[in-house]
Amino acid sequence: MKPIMNITPVCNWLQDAKRPLIISGPCSAESETQMLTTAKAIAAIDKKIIFRAGIWKPRTRPNAFEGVGSKGLEWMKTVKEQTGLLTATEVANANHVEECLKNKIDILWIGARTTVNPFSVQEIADALRGTDIPVFVKNPVTPDLQLWLGALERINQAGITKLAAIHRGFHSHAITPFRNDPKWEIAIELRTHCPDLPMICDPSHICGNTELIPYVSQKAMDMDMHGLMIETHCMPKMALSDAKQQLTPLQLADLIDRLVVRKAHSENNEFKNKLELLRESINKTDEELLQVLMSRMQMVEKIGVYKKENNVTILQTNRWESLLNERLNSASMMGLSEVFVRSLYLLIHEESIRKQNEVMNF
Ligand code: PEP
Ligand code: MN
Repeated sequence: MKPIMNITPVCNWLQDAKRPLIISGPCSAESETQMLTTAKAIAAIDKKIIFRAGIWKPRTRPNAFEGVGSKGLEWMKTVKEQTGLLTATEVANANHVEECLKNKIDILWIGARTTVNPFSVQEIADALRGTDIPVFVKNPVTPDLQLWLGALERINQAGITKLAAIHRGFHSHAITPFRNDPKWEIAIELRTHCPDLPMICDPSHICGNTELIPYVSQKAMDMDMHGLMIETHCMPKMALSDAKQQLTPLQLADLIDRLVVRKAHSENNEFKNKLELLRESINKTDEELLQVLMSRMQMVEKIGVYKKENNVTILQTNRWESLLNERLNSASMMGLSEVFVRSLYLLIHEESIRKQNEVMNF
């Protein structure tokens, strides 16, 4: 089902909006002093940064710091009065929405643990009906594009058009250097479904540590994302939540300074012509690639028939193991990445088994 969303572009609701849109501030509101010290340092970097802080914190285990609750909204107001920064926080139920609206929070976001639950998202959507506050929807913790899309649709259908998606990575059992596997392909797929929807990357929750944040931020910019949500704390080591991943304001300033922001298009004719030629040759190569895949699958089918006639099983693990090793060796000599070629062959092998299964059971 193709999503139909009515999105108001960021430049129509945010004065002097520029790319990247930066949202920064502590993971959690902890005290008025912590909020003001952090916010003033952020405002000194750029008054256009939107100040974030979690008021109600979804924690995996009970008895961890679960946020300061409503009194944090007062501190948000003070931040806004004293620094002029716009403010944003996470909402997980209708009551949070009402409290935020009452306290003039400028932007709301739905957290990854809430996006997974359509009941909660619908409750939030109903509470938002009749308002036009901007809402950002984080991806669900599980790598499920439909849940993410569904949450965005529910909020949009409640009349919220100032909408954006936040890519914060996904829970995964794979060993990766990240706290949450970015799985960029899911974010890309959402953008192909909803080209008008701004996408903001949250490198803090993807990385889970400070070292990788500049790398992921730059990658997000190079993937043409609209902005970055980055956790910043005046004293990260003392933070009551996500201490390992929060930057100091100084580190944030340095990151923004080093960010290379490229544009999605160029009007230069020489560039456009050359790009056109290169794309034509990619199209031709892709055609050849598909032809080769087709003839590989035809051979797979032939082998399937032969195995059936001789009553032999589809899978011979030693053949698969040696085939994969040979292909990985060749690929490495060609300078192709091992991770890429391995995943490609896993897919090809899966499809080959499916094809031979069809043949066997025909
Ligand atoms: C947060 O932004 O502090 C947070 C809890 O994020 P997420 O919902 O992505 O885990
Ligand atoms: Mn956090």
